[in-house]
Amino acid sequence: MKKTTILALAIAAILVIASAEPTMAYVLLSPRRTWASTPVNVPVYNVGNSTINDGSGGVVAVSGAIKAWGVVTSSATSQAAVRGQAPATITLNSNGHICTGSCLAATLTGYYSGSRINDADVYTNTKYKYTSSKETDGCSGEYDIDGIMVHEVGHVIGIGHSNVAGSTMYPTVSSCNFNNRTLEADDLAAKNDLY
Ligand SMILES: [Zn+2]
Repeated sequence: MKKTTILALAIAAILVIASAEPTMAYVLLSPRRTWASTPVNVPVYNVGNSTINDGSGGVVAVSGAIKAWGVVTSSATSQAAVRGQAPATITLNSNGHICTGSCLAATLTGYYSGSRINDADVYTNTKYKYTSSKETDGCSGEYDIDGIMVHEVGHVIGIGHSNVAGSTMYPTVSSCNFNNRTLEADDLAAKNDLY
């Protein structure tokens, strides 16, 4: 009986992969929407994350990393995020009461009118430990803030989750995995579709 169950599961898994393959691609947020113009300004609130030992709590690293999208500009800011009002601001030292539980970070994507994005603030779950591209003490059980924020800024500019494993817009990431810093073809296709 047990053997049958395992076999059935194996077959189901294969079928899922086979049927999902032709439709594997990026997903845009719905309704489709974009910022009015580029570059999109996404400043990083200058109170960093206390678990990142790189001199700025990840602020400088994140500000640099998110420019990977090519349509984003960024700098540190002393202005805390104002929900519903641009600029889209990244907060590294607070979950903003929206990202609790198992999420690492979250973007408020509800501020838009028609096909125009008006704001999209990003918050970080401070119950986890993070590392950055500017940290030099190695990685153990920490999550890469650069990659996480490149992913979140994908949401900021209008992209949803991709089912392409290895893409930056894939919904999950493990600790000490730095692959999300680099955009894959699927991520770039999504961005080029929108901008
Ligand atoms: Zn996401």
